[in-house]
Amino acid sequence: MADRDTLGEYRRRRDFTRTREPAGRGAKGAGHGGEPSFVVQIHDASSMHFDFRLEADGVLKSWAVPKGPSDDPHDKRLAMPTEDHPLDYRDFEGTIAEGEYGAGAVIVWDEGTYENVTRDRRGRPVPLAEGVERGHVSFRLAGHKLHGGYSLTRIRGSEGDREAWLLVKRAGTRASRHPTPDPRRARSALSGRTLAQIREAAQAGEADTWSSDRASS
Ligand code: MN
Repeated sequence: MADRDTLGEYRRRRDFTRTREPAGRGAKGAGHGGEPSFVVQIHDASSMHFDFRLEADGVLKSWAVPKGPSDDPHDKRLAMPTEDHPLDYRDFEGTIAEGEYGAGAVIVWDEGTYENVTRDRRGRPVPLAEGVERGHVSFRLAGHKLHGGYSLTRIRGSEGDREAWLLVKRAGTRASRHPTPDPRRARSALSGRTLAQIREAAQAGEADTWSSDRASS
């Protein structure tokens, strides 16, 4: 496991005296029973998007997916890489204050574990973080809403802001009748709340961060 700290950009973009997002300085968790975790958040920022995150090497590798994941293998969803996020971000749900980076409401739309099934051209297993660097990863999700095989493939750029990837459901499973989630109606997999309810709670001054009982279970 790489020891290098890849959270520098994440921390540079945020003022942790003004946002309740985790600073990621805590112990690196062991995931869910040893299996790596994934999370998909809906983020009502300057533009509505989904944030798709896969645990690898102690951080969450992250992509912003404007339309969200589809379970129809014919849909190719643009995914723009974003900075690595700390592992405890997988529980983050709440509001990011006005004026801060990414200001707006966030819900955890789906979460669970994944199995990395990335292979190189000769059929040998490729660790997820290495696959991300090479530009292709393949994985099987076990979430509340998302199930089965997906892949993320770089289609443009190599490193940096102009990189573009595609998130695609792998063929072999039948698509549901509702391949695309409606972000404004979607409910949190953790709390059952909608984005509007998260915003209302924040305006009412209630604690806006869902606290996980995972630590005690
Ligand atoms: Mn986001």
